[in-house]
Amino acid sequence: MNIILLGPQGSGKGTQAALLNARIGVVQVASGDVLRAAIQSASPLGLKAKSYYDVGELVPDEIVIGLLIEAIDQVPAGTDVLLDGFPRTVAQARALDAALAERGSAIDKVIELRLPLDVAKERLSGRLVCRTCGAVYNERTRPPRVPGVCDIDGGPLCQRADDYPEAIEKRLKIWERENDALVGYYESRGILERVDAQRSPEDVSSDLLAIFTASDASA
Ligand code: AMP
Repeated sequence: MNIILLGPQGSGKGTQAALLNARIGVVQVASGDVLRAAIQSASPLGLKAKSYYDVGELVPDEIVIGLLIEAIDQVPAGTDVLLDGFPRTVAQARALDAALAERGSAIDKVIELRLPLDVAKERLSGRLVCRTCGAVYNERTRPPRVPGVCDIDGGPLCQRADDYPEAIEKRLKIWERENDALVGYYESRGILERVDAQRSPEDVSSDLLAIFTASDASA
């Protein structure tokens, strides 16, 4: 099954993907992670992506689409996939549909995590990420047990390179600009569900699990 998680940055897509992975083994493919890995490897595509990533701009489709399809292809056949951060535009959604159709597959469900933008901004400005395992914390609302140290593996916590005020502002503006069309694209196909993300991660996860299980049963 292929599921897309939509929602503004800070709506908890990464946190929810990790919870679903632990509960039912679904594999997360996060465009941000894929791009960060490409940037870190200093590959030609990664170097091109970096100049957009660092300032909070969307990386051009011709870079993102190829990298993400490649990442999806690496997931073992028969594994449930949760896409996070991709597609971000209708052009990307169309390219994804075409690539999946070529592989005899399709998107089964799209879940939109709904969160007011002022709450998203607040969450992003306090976000801390473990440098080694990627676990996400928040200075104010979800602090680690020991400041600066990951509860899970003891790794150092840091702020993401693009979690500074100007980039946060820009990323959320871009999200606002693209989201309605993207949601409309999937809503018209009857595969969109909405979930209130302004609750505890555990409550949101229960809703996602219910949607996931219902879709699995009807697949
Ligand atoms: P995220 O971790 O999802 O907030 O993504 C971080 C950054 O990666 C974004 O600000 C963009 O620069 C880039 N990015 C992630 N996903 C996409 C995408 N689907 N299309 C274009 N750029 C993306």
